[in-house]
Amino acid sequence: MDNKLVDPKKTIETIQKYQFAFQKRFGQNFLIDSHVLDKIVNAAGITKEDCVLEIGPGIGTMTQYLAEHAGRVVAVEIDTNLLPILAETLKDYSNVTVINEDILKVDMNSLVEEYNNGRPIKVVANLPYYITTPIIMGLFESNVPIENITVMVQKEVADRMQVGPGSKDYGALSLAVQYYASPYIVANVPPNCFIPRPNVGSAVIRLTRYQEPPVQVKDAKLMFRLIRASFNQRRKTLQNGLNNSPELSFSKEEIAAVIESLGLPAAVRGEALTLEQFAALANAFTERTE
Ligand code: SAM
Repeated sequence: MDNKLVDPKKTIETIQKYQFAFQKRFGQNFLIDSHVLDKIVNAAGITKEDCVLEIGPGIGTMTQYLAEHAGRVVAVEIDTNLLPILAETLKDYSNVTVINEDILKVDMNSLVEEYNNGRPIKVVANLPYYITTPIIMGLFESNVPIENITVMVQKEVADRMQVGPGSKDYGALSLAVQYYASPYIVANVPPNCFIPRPNVGSAVIRLTRYQEPPVQVKDAKLMFRLIRASFNQRRKTLQNGLNNSPELSFSKEEIAAVIESLGLPAAVRGEALTLEQFAALANAFTERTE
C-alpha cells in the first residue's frame, strides 16, 4: 500500500516533490478517498478481461486502482506537466499507457481498435467538470464500442442525466443520455474527498450503453433537433418552441397537426414529453415528408 497515492499525505507529497501547480482551466481536483475509488471500480464491474479508458488521470491516483483490476488501461491526459509525475507513479504497472492529448481531439474509434481490437471498452473517469457534456455526448455520438461509462461529475449534472419529465432538472441532456444508456447514480461525493476541494457537490454515475436504443426513431438527428428546440425556450409551448427554432423549418400548421395527431394538448410544453413521445413526434414529422 506504500506507493498508493490515494492517501492525502502521499498526494500532497507528490505534488510538492514536482512543484505541481493546479490548473483551474483543466478542472483539476484530485481524489483522495479510497472508498470512492472502490465504489467506482466496483460499479464499473472491472475485471482482468477489460480494457479501460481513463480520461484525465491527474497524478495517477485512480489509474493505479484501475491498473490493478483491469487487463489494460489507456489514460488520456491533456496537461503535459503531469507526465513526469505519471511516469513515476505508474512505473510499476506495465498494463498502463498514458497518452498526452486533449480527449475531445482523440479519434476514439482508432484508439479502441488499437488497444482492444475494436471490442467494447469501459470508460472510467473523475471528469474535468468544464467539459462533462461534450465528453459524454462525444463518446455516445461517435458510436465507439463502449460497455459502460462510470464517471464522477457535478452532482447537479448527474441528477440531470437520470431524471424524467416533471423535474426542473429534466432537459436535453437527460433525453440524450437516456437514448443511449441506462443511468444509475452510484454515490454522492462531498468536496472533502478531493484536493483542492471543488465548490460543488459531486456524484458518481454509471451509464450502461444500450445495445439498441429504447425507442424506435427513424431520424435520430431530427429527434435531437426537436428536443433542443423544445428546451431552448422552456417556458414556451412545444408548438412555439418548434416554430421559433432556427434548426427546424416546419410550418405552424404542420406543427399543430403533428402535435394533435399524437393526442397531445395544443398548449403542451416540451418539458412534459417523455423520450417515447419525442421519438413519436420525430417519426410523425418524418412520415409527413416521406
Ligand atoms: N483522475 C484524477 C483523480 O481522480 O485524482 C484527476 C481528475 S481531475 C478532476 C481531471 C483531470 O482531467 C485532470 O488531470 C486534468 O488535467 C484532465 N483534463 C482536463 N481537460 C482534459 C482534456 N480535454 N483531455 C484530457 N484530460 C483533461
